[in-house]
Amino acid sequence: MKTVYPFGGGAPLDDPRAKDKTIVGGKGANLAEMADIGLPVPPGFTITTEECVRYLEHGGEFPESLKAAVSDAIGHIERSVGKTFGDPADPLLVSVRSGARVSMPGMMDTVLNLGLNDETVQGLAAVSGDPRFAWDSYRRFIQMYSDVVLGLDHGLFEEALEIAKEDKGLYSDTEMEADDWQALVAEYRKIAEDELGRPFPQDVHEQLWGAIRAVFDSWDSDRAKVYRRLNDIPSGWGTAVNVQAMVFGNMGDTSATGVAFTRDPATGERAYYGEWLVNAQGEDVVAGIRTPQYLTKAARERANAKPLAMEEAMPEAYAELARVFDLLEAHYRDMQDIEFTVERGKLWMLQTRSGKRTAKAALKMAVDMAGEGLIDEQTAILRVDPMALDQLLHPTLDPEAHRDVLTTGLPASPGAASGKIVLDADTAEQWVARGEKVILVRVETSPEDIHGMHAAQGILTARGGMTSHAAVVARGMGRCCVSGASAVSIDMKSRTLRIGNRDMAEGDVLTLDGSTGQVMAGEVATIEPELVGDFGTLMEWADRHRRMKVRTNAETPDDCRMAVQFGAEGIGLCRTEHMFFDARRISAVRQMILAEDERGRRKALALLLPEQRSDFAEIFRVMSGLPCTIRLLDPPLHEFLPHEDADFEELAEATGYGADHLKRRAGELHEFNPMLGHRGCRLGITYPEIYEMQARAIFEAACDVAAEGGEAPIPEVMIPLVASRRELELLRALVDRTAQDVFAEKGRTLDYLVGTMIELPRAALMAGEIAEEARFFSFGTNDLTQTTLGVSRDDAGRFLSAYVERGIFPRDPFVSLDIDGVGQLVRLAAERGRATRPDIKLGICGEHGGDPASIVFCEEVGLDYVSASPYRVPIARLAAAQAAL
Ligand code: PEP
Ligand code: MG
Repeated sequence: MKTVYPFGGGAPLDDPRAKDKTIVGGKGANLAEMADIGLPVPPGFTITTEECVRYLEHGGEFPESLKAAVSDAIGHIERSVGKTFGDPADPLLVSVRSGARVSMPGMMDTVLNLGLNDETVQGLAAVSGDPRFAWDSYRRFIQMYSDVVLGLDHGLFEEALEIAKEDKGLYSDTEMEADDWQALVAEYRKIAEDELGRPFPQDVHEQLWGAIRAVFDSWDSDRAKVYRRLNDIPSGWGTAVNVQAMVFGNMGDTSATGVAFTRDPATGERAYYGEWLVNAQGEDVVAGIRTPQYLTKAARERANAKPLAMEEAMPEAYAELARVFDLLEAHYRDMQDIEFTVERGKLWMLQTRSGKRTAKAALKMAVDMAGEGLIDEQTAILRVDPMALDQLLHPTLDPEAHRDVLTTGLPASPGAASGKIVLDADTAEQWVARGEKVILVRVETSPEDIHGMHAAQGILTARGGMTSHAAVVARGMGRCCVSGASAVSIDMKSRTLRIGNRDMAEGDVLTLDGSTGQVMAGEVATIEPELVGDFGTLMEWADRHRRMKVRTNAETPDDCRMAVQFGAEGIGLCRTEHMFFDARRISAVRQMILAEDERGRRKALALLLPEQRSDFAEIFRVMSGLPCTIRLLDPPLHEFLPHEDADFEELAEATGYGADHLKRRAGELHEFNPMLGHRGCRLGITYPEIYEMQARAIFEAACDVAAEGGEAPIPEVMIPLVASRRELELLRALVDRTAQDVFAEKGRTLDYLVGTMIELPRAALMAGEIAEEARFFSFGTNDLTQTTLGVSRDDAGRFLSAYVERGIFPRDPFVSLDIDGVGQLVRLAAERGRATRPDIKLGICGEHGGDPASIVFCEEVGLDYVSASPYRVPIARLAAAQAAL
């Protein structure tokens, strides 16, 4: 198996591994692909991800075979460009870049100009006829290599550069002359030597292997690990290394470098979008050191900016670039994120990949591209990450609300966010952990800030363009971001900042509008999202392609209405206990619990009956004609017990018992392990009058709503925490008897079902028998996970993250179903239930019903529906469609 794959310069690409992302990484695969379709790609080679994994497993050793293969591949580049690596007269220079299967901001990014030393820099100066360019390239190389490969503090070099400029009275880098750069190189080499205790490496092969080692090592850097954890990327993938002949964007005013998207990654609009810089190298654009310029004339005019757009300044190279954009979109059938360089008027492609985008842009592009015939409806459905819809379902700033605008930066990632200012990533994480909402404000962000960006509601940076690190990462995470707000200055010592002409401090509240770039003082009001347009279209397509129904977990009429707007097709779980916590009702609930006997309980229940009946009636009106699964009382009674003396006094007054008597009774009800105690159907078995009241409220409400002439609801009465057939047999009989009584009283009969939750391992194992009594099963995977793993859902937070970090669970099993373990029980119960009752209705109502990965599993097992909280309903609709495709 080959370990190194050359590309460009006519290298053969018939081996499928040469274009396989899993082998050569995303960047390598796309470089090979671009070369293959005839685009101008500087020649290079890729070392496989397999070699990275082997290197890390073997304690950082390079095998001889790899050394030989790299040497051959360098020969390929040398022959293609007619230069020799390390040749003092006319040196080949290369870039070295990491490239995993998916792009990962946590890893080593790029070393440019590798192959320069004290001798080759002279050759480069002579051959290019441009000593300034040669020395500028050399100082860049020392600075970058020292930073990313040797691990030296890049601040030392920046400081030296600032001092050099100050000494000469210069303002910008472009004013530096060849001699200035040469002097700075001497300074840089001295810094490196002082820090390292040995000279900066002059041997070009040592430089190359140092960079390769740094790329491999960066796979296991802390930053990369954080990113992998946040994005569910397996640690066993490894990264490839791309080594490529340099082309130079810093060879004077006919040279340039830039990054571009074939469509607008923030809005999805069909317009080329990007930034470029004349006489610069790639890192200048993304690092936010110089402010990049617009690519197109239209964008420049819209922003009212002065410096010419590339379209105007370099019309020929731009026309070639536009042709490449179209070719790439047609080839990949997706929006591309591109890096390019123009060297003395000639365009070179350095990278293409499918571009990160906001949820709004993803939606628009999917719908547009299907309309353009570039992709089909199914592909459009698969293009949008269901979880990203979350960004669209949440409120945006109210256009009518007052805005105290402090400054306007670049609208880097849309959405609205308010929160307290924090000035570094660790503080962001700490404040969020204690329940605050924060806005992370930085001069610019780097991969070390990822955890803080993740924790924050929004990100504001003083420097950087639309393609800066902050912008790209924020769009990927769906965080609102305003970048390049140059009116922001930060003083880290006093932890204060100035925005426009306002002085502020860490902890002050700020609002960001990522769609306009506005930065506002205080909190600004928001409005609900719109669910029409592209969103409506894609949802319609999703609905056409999904098999499973999507219901909601809701117990208030408002939540039900919201869920119906989001497309819910019924209620999958109405937790009736939530209706009991209301201040007015809790006293009656407590009277019921603390009653000495059935008569006392019935007295209290009589107070609750009309309340429950009106709750259900309102829900049934909203859910007209749709199935409504209503679960009878489930939680341990313990949860309702009074704690405060005042509560006991109040109860004493209502019941006529003394407060001491009530306290003694409460003590009797105390449980050591309430989650495994007197809860669920055990309540119905011991106090049948509670379930009888609830069943009566359900049927009376259903009859009343039917009598109003509306479409009758279809109640599905659900018994929780069943472990055996007999429990359900007794309780089903109670519900049926109550239904018959109510129907007789009301003079009408309605369809209804009685079923159960499967949330105990025994219930799953005995599902065949239980199905004799159940018309439906709803998998309560919250409890089923808790009881199968023996992990308390309420206490897991303390240790579960350590379990996920150590790879014991791939993800939090209360968020994403433990398919290997708990999944077996779900599958088995579904099979056994169906064997007994082929038309048994199967659904899921644990939190997993709104998790896309778990939804894929539900489709596989053949459940009839998933049920999720209202905001998750659209996510579930899309995920169910994707699962079915
Ligand atoms: C469950 O256990 O999965 C469930 C839906 O019920 P609850 O979360 O109310 O226990
Ligand atoms: Mg439960």
